[in-house]
Amino acid sequence: MNMEMQNTIAKAVSFSGIALHTGVRVHLTMKPAPVDTGIVFRRTDMPGNPEVRAHAAYVVDVRRATTIAAPSKAFVVTVEHIMASLHAANVDNVYVEMDSAEPPIADGSAGPYFRLIREAGIQEQDAPARYWTTDKPLYYENRGTTLVVLPAEVFKISCTVEFGETALGTQFFSLEVTPESFERELGPCRTFAAYRDLAQLIAAGLAKGGSLDNAVVMHEGAIISNEGLRFPNEMVRHKMMDMVGDLYLTGKRVRAHVIAIKPGHPSNVETVKRMLASENGAK
Ligand SMILES: [Zn+2]
Repeated sequence: MNMEMQNTIAKAVSFSGIALHTGVRVHLTMKPAPVDTGIVFRRTDMPGNPEVRAHAAYVVDVRRATTIAAPSKAFVVTVEHIMASLHAANVDNVYVEMDSAEPPIADGSAGPYFRLIREAGIQEQDAPARYWTTDKPLYYENRGTTLVVLPAEVFKISCTVEFGETALGTQFFSLEVTPESFERELGPCRTFAAYRDLAQLIAAGLAKGGSLDNAVVMHEGAIISNEGLRFPNEMVRHKMMDMVGDLYLTGKRVRAHVIAIKPGHPSNVETVKRMLASENGAK
């Protein structure tokens, strides 16, 4: 593996919008951070601006999105699209300041965050990048979900999802994740929800900021969306984008081939915990 250096962003960049679950308007700023900081969220709306490090050790809820919390009780929710963009762009160190618990959902994809990072520019730093690698396969299975992590020199995801007896059927996609491939193939793919789950989400006080501007709704194989689908298999691609984000909770750039059948946040985070537990010290 060639030796790459850690990266931060070259300048601070900001973004505002509505959060998906809380529905509040939130202002987000990404700022450069020193070597070995990792990805650190800061709640600027709370006294003392408490920090929450994006690491599997701090994940507290994975039911609908990935939520992380600090010992200070500060928490941030739905961080996976930002994490995916940072992972794909090879940004190791950054402060993400938000004046609310949840980042803007934007158009439901990672595209706006990836563009924000591009706008900031990448700043190389004076320390080698850290990689999660493995020399043996790792395996997770639970209730129809399977994840296999295989040794590889590159970061690759192969994913299958299925929507039963509907027109959406079974979707498969496989991709080596690079900044370029992520921007083109995964970044634009939006959040989706099944129509039958919406009432449940709303009853639970979630999806308050949800609309057809930031999510694709599926109903018996039909698509309810303001602009149709961006790819015929946009759903499996979005799952892969979420996975790029959740796997960054290792705190390192992942170099492995992840094969996933029907993944979700719980299985992603459980797999990350196993990846950290199995670490062999290889760099
Ligand atoms: Zn997502």
